[in-house]
Amino acid sequence: MYLEEKHLEKAKEIVLKHRKKRSCKKCYDRGYVGLTLENTLVVCDKCIDIDQAMDEWKEYVKLDEKLVEDFHDLFEEEPQEEGAEEENKEHEGEE
Ligand SMILES: [Zn+2]
Repeated sequence: MYLEEKHLEKAKEIVLKHRKKRSCKKCYDRGYVGLTLENTLVVCDKCIDIDQAMDEWKEYVKLDEKLVEDFHDLFEEEPQEEGAEEENKEHEGEE
């Protein structure tokens, strides 16, 4: 898939709304550090609240059937309200 330019523009808008810092050297205040081959944003993890931005992006994606298809894996990971169990990740120490 290849994200259409108009959706990319929207994605940029969304990430900028969720910036946590005013100035960022990593992304030069763009909110993203580059583009993927699919023309989606590589969001800057230094200054963007990625969870919040993702939530808003999902809401936007839901409005467009084509986008829902393209981004179906975004929705598969949504936690189920019922019987959701926290996964306990065990850290196998490397230190
Ligand atoms: Zn940044």
